[in-house]
Amino acid sequence: MRMILVGPPGAGKGTQAARLVDKYGIPHISSGDMLRAAVKAGTELGVTADRYMKAGQLVPDDVVIGMILERIAAPDCAKGFMLDGFPRTIPQAEALDAAMTKAGVAIDVVLLFEVPDALIVERGVGRRNDPITGRIYHIKFDPPPAEVTERLVHRKDDHEAAINERLHYYHDWTAPIMPFYEGKGLLRRVDGVGTPDEVSARVVKALA
Ligand code: AMP
Repeated sequence: MRMILVGPPGAGKGTQAARLVDKYGIPHISSGDMLRAAVKAGTELGVTADRYMKAGQLVPDDVVIGMILERIAAPDCAKGFMLDGFPRTIPQAEALDAAMTKAGVAIDVVLLFEVPDALIVERGVGRRNDPITGRIYHIKFDPPPAEVTERLVHRKDDHEAAINERLHYYHDWTAPIMPFYEGKGLLRRVDGVGTPDEVSARVVKALA
């Protein structure tokens, strides 16, 4: 199974991805997680990416495309993968398509999580990530247990100004890739408003 998860920042892609990888046994490849790891490691790629990420802007296509195409060529992706946060622009979608064609494989499904902008900001500012388990919480909608609260991380780009900037990039650059996948008959829309369990139930239906 080769799957892509798309949607605005904070649409629930990461939360649903964690549930889906357990079910399908395929690697979860989050471009945002990979970039944050590069920033933390202080690699050349990380230093370049950090400037854009802090401001909520997109990292240049050539940087992200190289990183993801190398990752999906790894042996653990031979039977499939779940891309989360990539592709985010038309050149990225085209580069992925060309790489898939060259490898003689194809994307099976693209899940688009739809959430209104007003809710995205509220979700983003309250989001907290557990660096140990990878679990994502929300201080109001999905409160963390007391024993993990100390170690939770509030992402640098989960503040109102950066979230609004990321939303703006989403509408201008990412939303235009949908017709590309719709034209191939791969796009499945999922209403992302509701609890993680409610959204999971819709995902199961969309994949049936
Ligand atoms: P995410 O964790 O998916 O919300 O991504 C966090 C940030 O990483 C984004 O706001 C961008 O700065 C950068 N990023 C992640 N994926 C991509 C991508 N496919 N293309 C460009 N920038 C990306």
